Amino acid sequence: MASAQSHHTDAGVVAASRRGACPSLAEPMQTGDGLLVRLRSRHGVLTLQQCRALGEAALRFGNGLLEITARGSIQIRGLTPERIGPLAAALHEAAIEIPKGPAIELPPLHGLFHENANAAALEDLVRQRLTALLDSKKLAAKLSIVIDGGGPFGLSAVPADIRLEAIGPERWLVLINTDGPKPLPVALGNAGEAVDCLEKLLRFLAENGGARWRDIPPDRLHATFPALQESSETVILAAPDAPLGPVQIDSAAIAYGLRARFGQMRAADLIGFVDDISHLNIQSLRPGPGRCLFLAGLAKSDIDTVADAARRHGLSTDANDPSIKMAACAGAGACASGYYHTRVLGEAMIDRWPGILDGSLAVHMSGCVKGCAERRAALTFAGVDGGYHVVLSGRASDPPDALIAGGDVESAIERLARLIEAEKQGGETTASCLARLGKKRIVGALRQE
Ligand code: SF4
Repeated sequence: MASAQSHHTDAGVVAASRRGACPSLAEPMQTGDGLLVRLRSRHGVLTLQQCRALGEAALRFGNGLLEITARGSIQIRGLTPERIGPLAAALHEAAIEIPKGPAIELPPLHGLFHENANAAALEDLVRQRLTALLDSKKLAAKLSIVIDGGGPFGLSAVPADIRLEAIGPERWLVLINTDGPKPLPVALGNAGEAVDCLEKLLRFLAENGGARWRDIPPDRLHATFPALQESSETVILAAPDAPLGPVQIDSAAIAYGLRARFGQMRAADLIGFVDDISHLNIQSLRPGPGRCLFLAGLAKSDIDTVADAARRHGLSTDANDPSIKMAACAGAGACASGYYHTRVLGEAMIDRWPGILDGSLAVHMSGCVKGCAERRAALTFAGVDGGYHVVLSGRASDPPDALIAGGDVESAIERLARLIEAEKQGGETTASCLARLGKKRIVGALRQE
């Protein structure tokens, strides 16, 4: 539940000090690197020129880096209170509409394929009918709503408090608690009825002090929102996430999935990428879950141009790129709080110790113990004065399992890689090998005991 501890900065914006608050233009978040804003455009769609404008804004007002979050929002960091107003003006000038209130997330390829119903139209209806309610400070700051029109690619990996799923033509199923073990289907109807139900759910959460479903005792939850009787309509078959690389939309058009290496892009790279593909007839760019970026509407003959431009500008088209399992924050050189160059150590791990990153192990390179880039990871290197905290299965801010002196980090990683190589059994992944070996062996290798 959010506590109201926000404070006004010099420029009159409110710094998001509410616990778990979602940093917006009106309520940016204070980080070790100035203020941060998280942006999600209406429908999650941007034109190429709007993407360029975002890159320019990150260069002018932020620290020159753009991050794509695990849920597909864009973050700009390194802002000051005086720069929030000009940033908002620049976004307005580029006609980038950032709606207020909780995130409403749509599958990134919505509207491109046949869908049961139009997710973008339902987002508009929700925003039109529930404007004041969505803007209410009584809702939990991190409340999330997913609207999925039922196309071939969905948002199954993205947990949500409330999910509206089109299960047939203009037939919407409303589910709650979708990040819990068993989502609860609570209503089935047309678009208007789905919005009626959403309103009821949001009012209930607001009246309960900005609760999330996990805060409501199950008995009360079931009494207030009885589950629909289970039927073939209430069991949702999760559509897969949109893949990296090309996906055929129809005989003429293709969508193309890219991923920002380490989940972040230099603003100059985003601008360069847009400039390199601006002569193509690309309809839109759509940030998506898993720190991805999707291009919509390119022709088959454009694929090589897009792939080359992507490679030149730090975007990966490879679903097996080892950087996919690695999160790296801005780090030293880009963030005032960073103790080391996170991407440099990340690239070194990928190049020199590929056995560690077999796709099974989540690694987090964090410039300091704040851990901006990732919540939890199997293996975290957090920069501290004079060295590194290594945290196993935890957050950058957790007490370290091992302390590594600054000059020893590469040899520590080398020893860990050798341990994995020596101990991995046939068919075993790095993650399962390390889980089997246990903390003591891993820490022993890192410390050379
Ligand atoms: S975690 Fe990284 S980006 Fe965040 S404050 Fe520390 S160094 Fe800066």
